[in-house]
Amino acid sequence: MTTLAIVSALLDEQKGLLDQLQQPTQHVRAGRTFWCGQWAGHEVVLVLSKVGKVAAASTTATLIEAFGAERVLFTGVAGGIGDGVKVGDVVVADAFIQHDLDPSPFFPRYEIPLYDRATMACDETLSALLFEAVKSGLPKAGDHFHRDILLEAPGVHRGLIASGDQFVCDPADVNTIRADLQAAGHQALAVEMEGAAVAQVCFDYGIPFAAMRTISDRADADAHMDFSAFVQQVASPYALAIVSQFMRILPK
Ligand code: SAH
Repeated sequence: MTTLAIVSALLDEQKGLLDQLQQPTQHVRAGRTFWCGQWAGHEVVLVLSKVGKVAAASTTATLIEAFGAERVLFTGVAGGIGDGVKVGDVVVADAFIQHDLDPSPFFPRYEIPLYDRATMACDETLSALLFEAVKSGLPKAGDHFHRDILLEAPGVHRGLIASGDQFVCDPADVNTIRADLQAAGHQALAVEMEGAAVAQVCFDYGIPFAAMRTISDRADADAHMDFSAFVQQVASPYALAIVSQFMRILPK
């Protein structure tokens, strides 16, 4: 059976997922706790990546080398920087780019040296399944969707996500990131701190990868406010609903 790894960046994001694991066994390796078990008839391994690209890359390599992960799914939160990407929406990644990577003048801005590319594409089949799971797992207009926190029912987007080792919380930084990416022909919907690293390691190993991010903030001065409340009350239940749906439709 194919082993699916489910990676989360933060503990609160992972808690609800862990409860679903049947016959869980715990393994400590490389400073991480890996949880192996079954979910809806799939072999799964759950792990916290911790925050940032290096932590995420190391976690992914360990998942593949030591735990036999053959597919990787990332769930997390992100700052919305695309037009119309609002707090509470969910973005399914088509591809990732590192917004803080600049090897110029040796290579073009954003290009990953010796990979001949700036963006790392997600697996089309796995991402299409994830998109289906997001659409059917998320609350719709009219459903209960935390009216105390969100103004509208969540929207769903697909596109490019930009990763960097920076918690973006300043509109000036957002403008710079957007403008610089746009000048190189890229339009990102969201910023976060891990996805591009996971995507690159999965690319190295030829492992299918898909990722979803609930938008926790607009990467502005309010970005850190109520961050953990949002993760606990909105992003975690969304991740649980979406991953549960994903597990149902994922071929074995
Ligand atoms: N408060 C947390 C740390 C959050 S770091 C703690 O105490 O552990 C932010 C996390 O959310 C990262 O995993 C990152 O991927 C994501 N994220 C959400 N909004 C972001 C933003 N505006 N910029 C960068 N990363 C963001």
